[in-house]
Amino acid sequence: MQMVVDLFSLPRDPAGRQSASVEVDSGYFRAMTTTGSTASNIVGMAVGREWLGVHDRGVSYCQDGYDGQVVVVTNMAHATVWKAASILGIGRKQVVEIPGMGLTDGDDEERVLEEEVKKLKDAGKAILVFLAFGEVNTGIFPRNTRRIAEICKKYNAYFHIDGAFGIYARCSPKYAHLADGLELAHSITACGHKWLNVPYDCGLFLYRQTLEKPIMEPLFSSTAAYLRPSGTPFSHPMNISIENSQRFRSLPVWATLRAYGREGYRKIVEENCRFAKTLYDWMKLSRPDLYTVLTEDCPLNIVVFAKTQSDSGRESYEELDKKNAELLARINQTGVAYFSPTVWKGKPAIRAAISNWQTTVELDWEPVRVMLEEQASIA
Ligand SMILES: *Cc1c(COP(=O)(O)O)cnc(C)c1O
Repeated sequence: MQMVVDLFSLPRDPAGRQSASVEVDSGYFRAMTTTGSTASNIVGMAVGREWLGVHDRGVSYCQDGYDGQVVVVTNMAHATVWKAASILGIGRKQVVEIPGMGLTDGDDEERVLEEEVKKLKDAGKAILVFLAFGEVNTGIFPRNTRRIAEICKKYNAYFHIDGAFGIYARCSPKYAHLADGLELAHSITACGHKWLNVPYDCGLFLYRQTLEKPIMEPLFSSTAAYLRPSGTPFSHPMNISIENSQRFRSLPVWATLRAYGREGYRKIVEENCRFAKTLYDWMKLSRPDLYTVLTEDCPLNIVVFAKTQSDSGRESYEELDKKNAELLARINQTGVAYFSPTVWKGKPAIRAAISNWQTTVELDWEPVRVMLEEQASIA
């Protein structure tokens, strides 16, 4: 798992697990596997809530029960943030979304975030900031994660980043600036079965090693007379995550990192992003008559677009939605590419997310281009 910490260029205890001191927050990270990014988000929110109990309220929620005072503040969040709040009993309505993060100019989004956090804090709440890294429709990142980390510090908020695929921007010097400030989070969600391309049932959870003994162990430990995993100075996985029995999920992670390494993942990430940019530029510059891209830019590996409207431009939402859905169904039936439906800024849209390790511009762009031209030209 140290290889995972290294893959994302996060600081890691050079002496390894055993000498880790929990007294001083060195900023070192550790990683573990989960069943997916949903599970990592649930773990992150649970750890965050317990941390807030101990560090903001002076109580242990996992011992004494929860007082309902935590609010989750988020931006452009993935649906699983509400799911995690629901499962954990924080409540879906206690998730506050700051609109438009990453989309405004200047320092507006941080100002809006700070105002919201201050308001909640003044109302006696404890704050769990849950930041999306790489918005699911567009790949957009927060503009200034360092500033957001400062706000968290100022208001004693817990800081989690959901970087399920956005975190992979750290694999390439070309894109790493997008994910700058990642290392300031308390904990991070990453996905194994997305851009790492390992089989399903692999999420990653990265966390400050100082959380392990005082927060994660009390929260997750399950002691039974017949289970005696300890005897080593580091925590047993059973006592710092959801499952007791777990399969050896880190094996494929280890194998692929041994085989490809950081250099291999740099190439995969860059090639996938290059494919997305090729697709984006083609739609925007060559065939705006067929396809309309819905963002100003293509920062990472995702393109969000729609079928170009007819000249009258007066179609209703339902008509547009139907046309896009029909086009998407035809595209996916070809078997050449697989895109998904979405809504972006209130408009029905189609989303292309490129993350397969085998996809290259050289081999795949031409067939995709021909297919997209053919399918959009039918009616
Ligand atoms: C995919 C995704 C998730 C959920 O991941 P699963 O592995 O399907 O559970 C959560 N957050 C983000 C940002 C994602 O992209």
